[in-house]
Amino acid sequence: MTINDLKNSVPFLDLVTPHVELEEQLLSVTKRVLTTAGFIGGPMVEGFEEEFAKYCGARYCIGVNSGTDALRFILIALGIEPGDAVITVSNTFIATTEAISQAGAQPVFVDVDEDTCNMDPQKLSGFLESQCVIDSQGTVRTRSNGLRVKAILPVHLYGQPADMDPILELAERYGLMVVEDACQAHGAMYLSKRLGGWRRAGSMGCAAAFSFYPGKNLGACGEAGAITTNDEELARKMRMLRDHGQEKKYYHLVEGYNGRLDAMQAGFLSVKLPHLDEWNRQRRAAAKRYDECFAAATDRIGLVRELLTAESACHLYVISVADRDGLREHLASMGIGTGIHYPVPLHLQEAYRNLGYRRGDLPVTERLADNIVSLPMFPQLQAEQQQRVVKAVLDFVSRSASAGVEEMHDSLRPVAQAS
Ligand SMILES: *Cc1c(COP(=O)(O)O)cnc(C)c1O
Repeated sequence: MTINDLKNSVPFLDLVTPHVELEEQLLSVTKRVLTTAGFIGGPMVEGFEEEFAKYCGARYCIGVNSGTDALRFILIALGIEPGDAVITVSNTFIATTEAISQAGAQPVFVDVDEDTCNMDPQKLSGFLESQCVIDSQGTVRTRSNGLRVKAILPVHLYGQPADMDPILELAERYGLMVVEDACQAHGAMYLSKRLGGWRRAGSMGCAAAFSFYPGKNLGACGEAGAITTNDEELARKMRMLRDHGQEKKYYHLVEGYNGRLDAMQAGFLSVKLPHLDEWNRQRRAAAKRYDECFAAATDRIGLVRELLTAESACHLYVISVADRDGLREHLASMGIGTGIHYPVPLHLQEAYRNLGYRRGDLPVTERLADNIVSLPMFPQLQAEQQQRVVKAVLDFVSRSASAGVEEMHDSLRPVAQAS
């Protein structure tokens, strides 16, 4: 890397700038918490819960310790238990399936749509039709091992809502619950005919999980998460689960967890929430610029397509290319940060060997995992920085494309006859 490259380096993510910009307000939260010693629970947590529920268009919000806890508490509160299966996707962060397993159930994977990288409703429908049976009690069971299929857990990956209408329709037809993994989709929108208009991620299923891990669109300054739901009874159960199963101190109705959102994080999140829409607008503008710059090279660069019925929160900007590792190396050599979300699909992870999946079971997911790369994406990403990224990507793919052509010509060249 030259001095110039170093100066022009583009980070994958910039978590410093927004915190410097909001420093005064964030410090005043710290001061308020320290001077009142209201560390756990209290008005700051309740205040944020109210604001976030309203933002998402959901009736209730339950602040928890992480997105993983959010998913786990939702599934447990819904009564997911051993002997159950929950249908989800394999190209997601492992937290999605950890929650399923830790509720005692088994994750079952359906493949994703090539263009959106999200759960493919057609594959879901195919799975329910051909891999499941409905027993005499009307319970949907997996054909292979007789597990009760109770819920569908679509992930709004990279910030784009999964295609919820057909998923909700299938859920209704088969009597299944739908839980949204909205951990990457704070503020994302979906135009639902079923639900009568544009809806925010987190307001479409029985309940939704959000993560406020620092790198998410709305991030805390530490670990934090939340659940949104319209179901009062479910909300009550999840509030108990996050707090050792108690509604009143030391009176435990069930065994629960230590999974509360702390006051400091809630206060930080309240400072940041009013900026979320503007940050998402900036992300969308950056994504649009990338899309436009890559439009002429879509024979070599695969783009994630946005549904006509969706407005992505653009958590990540992901492209797919033939020589993904080569591209990453090239970008790294120029000081451009990248990521892979995710390099190994869950069904091929060592941790899930027991589930019995093999390479080839989810071909679209597997192909994506080999070719995807996430480019720099954050609200403060400057147009000049982006231009640098674009140029580097286009240079690389055109160079490797012409190298590919030469190789092809080489192989077509008649081999010299040995005499
Ligand atoms: C971040 C994330 C989670 C987990 O959130 P944590 O707050 O890190 O526990 C779950 N699912 C998806 C898709 C995520 O991106």
